[in-house]
Amino acid sequence: MFNALWLQKDDAGFRAGVEPLADERLPALGEGDVKVAIEYSTLNYKDGLALTNKGPVVRLWPMVPGIDGAGTVIESRSAKWRVGDHVVHNGWGVGETRWGCLAERAVLAGDGLVRLPAAFTARQAMAIGTAGYTAMLCVLAIERHGAKPGDGDVLVTGATGGVGSVAVALLARLGWRVIASTGKAEQGAYLKSLGAAEVMDRAALSAAGKPLQKERWAAVVDTLGSHTLANACAQTRYGGVVTACGLAQGMDFVASVAPFILRGITLAGVDSVNAPLAMREVAWQRLARDLDPALLESMIEEVALAQAIARAGDLMDGKIRGRIVVRTAK
Ligand code: NDP
Repeated sequence: MFNALWLQKDDAGFRAGVEPLADERLPALGEGDVKVAIEYSTLNYKDGLALTNKGPVVRLWPMVPGIDGAGTVIESRSAKWRVGDHVVHNGWGVGETRWGCLAERAVLAGDGLVRLPAAFTARQAMAIGTAGYTAMLCVLAIERHGAKPGDGDVLVTGATGGVGSVAVALLARLGWRVIASTGKAEQGAYLKSLGAAEVMDRAALSAAGKPLQKERWAAVVDTLGSHTLANACAQTRYGGVVTACGLAQGMDFVASVAPFILRGITLAGVDSVNAPLAMREVAWQRLARDLDPALLESMIEEVALAQAIARAGDLMDGKIRGRIVVRTAK
């Protein structure tokens, strides 16, 4: 038997709970699959949507949610992985169309796994999770575009969230002057401890603004979308780059072409779910190099499986700071 978070939706409505499941309930291992003893999982924004039934994340019922997991291979039908290997899983539709990692066991496609970097424990890897690895993908996109710390300030929106917290820590460590935008004024000291040079009120960016505004940012990591993303583009300096990875404010994006055709800015989309394996491996190597483990620790709240349901509600209400790590064992 193993414990799993278990989501059901039927005529009786939506239910979330922790249940012991027999090993036979797991999907059979197909060619290339591995069975992983998951030690830690985490709550990302998408997990929050799934656990609260607030967004159409789950496509198959009943579902074991959890898009991320870290643990040890205990059975393998993959040429790439052996029993005892330590692995990390992010995305690939797991927890959406295939059973996920908020459980003590998961059957996962071997081709999608990344080796746990020696720099991290399973717990630290899940403190990073999809949120932190997406923050690194944004940093890589900024670098690919050629933007450098000497070019000017970088803006991070949704800064106290999972993506935002890791982005602030990474960019500051890489020498950027980071301006952290947040709706949680009381978390200013936290953001400065991560490396933010200045903290700004997110209200300054969240309402509809002019198509072209005072040039402020050499680069942007935006996790909010909507008016915030439009304003970030309108305030980006000549030739700068805006990375868009999130929609915490909204999926809409009512902007103008002015910053693109008059300032030559670039809007770079960032997707973690189906990012190619080679890109994931680079991102995890760079996280091992560029993320200070002590700062990562300051972002973590650890909970057990049963507590994850309530904390998912808090995540959706914007009440969480940093990263929730979920211990699968009781
Ligand atoms: P979190 O919930 O941890 O953080 C989101 C933050 O956004 C909050 O902490 C809050 O920060 C801010 N926020 C929340 N609600 C609102 C609102 N209504 N208006 C303005 N700001 C708000 O989520 P993550 O950091 O994990 O994810 C952030 C976004 O990125 C999500 O939309 C998620 O779906 C997306 N994402 C996309 C990925 C991809 O592959 N493209 C991968 C991972 C995440 P504060 O209080 O500091 O302002």
